[in-house]
Amino acid sequence: MRLLVAAATDIGQVRERNEDAYLIDEPLFAVADGMGGHRGGEVASSLALETLESLFQRGGGDLAEQVQVANEAVFERSIRDVSVAGMGTTLTAALVQGDRVRLAHVGDSRAYLLRDGGLRQLTEDHTLVHRMVLDGEITEQEAETHPYRSILTRSLGTDTEVEIDRDEVPVLPGDRLLLCTDGLTGMLDRGQLESLVASIDDPGELAERLVRAANRAGGIDNITVVVVDVRADEGTDAEGPEPAGVGTETAIVRTPSAADAEGPAPHRGETPPSTITGVVPTIPDEGRRGDVDRSEARATPPGPSAWGHRWKRVAVWLVAVVALFAVAFVGFRAYLDRQWYVGVVDGHVTVFRGIPASVAGYELHEVVVETTIDARRAESLALYHDLADGITADDRAAAEAIVEQIRRDVALQAPETGGSP
Ligand code: MG
Repeated sequence: MRLLVAAATDIGQVRERNEDAYLIDEPLFAVADGMGGHRGGEVASSLALETLESLFQRGGGDLAEQVQVANEAVFERSIRDVSVAGMGTTLTAALVQGDRVRLAHVGDSRAYLLRDGGLRQLTEDHTLVHRMVLDGEITEQEAETHPYRSILTRSLGTDTEVEIDRDEVPVLPGDRLLLCTDGLTGMLDRGQLESLVASIDDPGELAERLVRAANRAGGIDNITVVVVDVRADEGTDAEGPEPAGVGTETAIVRTPSAADAEGPAPHRGETPPSTITGVVPTIPDEGRRGDVDRSEARATPPGPSAWGHRWKRVAVWLVAVVALFAVAFVGFRAYLDRQWYVGVVDGHVTVFRGIPASVAGYELHEVVVETTIDARRAESLALYHDLADGITADDRAAAEAIVEQIRRDVALQAPETGGSP
């Protein structure tokens, strides 16, 4: 079997950045949809895919293990670099091996399989609304338009470890795999998606048409698609005729708006920006090495005539450092004001503004609403095990929606035994 591959990504109609990324390293394909303030989303999605690609090329471990390492890479960066703290990403990867495709998946990007004109979703969304569907609280149709449909229950890079869905499905010649981010599936309903994927033969044209359809429907999010067509080998002769309309085996479609935008999502050739804030005092190199006497590395005290100049320079440096700190602080404060999460205070489920961390004793969050919901009971539910670490939300409304969901889930629990009336 041979593969025909095409991909397209687009910033959409509303977003200022494209935080999606994709990976094509045949036979490995993936999409990722990053999230997090500042440049966090872009860093998370591209770092995850770069890590996955380099592990794949080195050939260590299976696909899910490689995705787990990608999780660690994103998480460690978010701990090290305060400007991307709390970032995360979805990741849906497909590895075509012989007549099977292995899948590894976290988040709400999706993999689909088209066979005989029928489109089947291979992945399960890790979202709050999908859980509500499973619990019978809302229908699948209601989930498609639910205001909280983008709240993830699982994401890559937000914790030391992540639970990865893995699957393996057989593929046949004539099958078509589609990997996409929610910027596509949030804009097209299932019927629209199926009819496009089933009716357009050329993968490059399909990728482009899917992006265009999502943009016409509003394009409220970044849109990324990877199309992989599985074709039968054309005899043993490798010089077989190219199918009509496909010049190369891999067609990368760059839609005009994506090409014009500052940050195209394809992770290839794009290195995440290195963002270091704050000032770290440095020790001369000699001073760091074990037995070397540190005083040797320092300058001898200046003579009295040099003091005036020295003080002026020190004053200028002090002003510069203070100004730098002030700018960094104001910027960081503004960033924190836009972050929301749900956590625990005094045993109660609580809405916070900021991020669940502290630096040198300075808390990077504030309590906005402390509810009366018992956090211990919420944490006893599998979905909220990590409540104490914080469940991130896009905004205040989303955070409050999570609280309401926790309230409902806790209420559905059997009442605690031994409690006082
Ligand atoms: Mg998205």
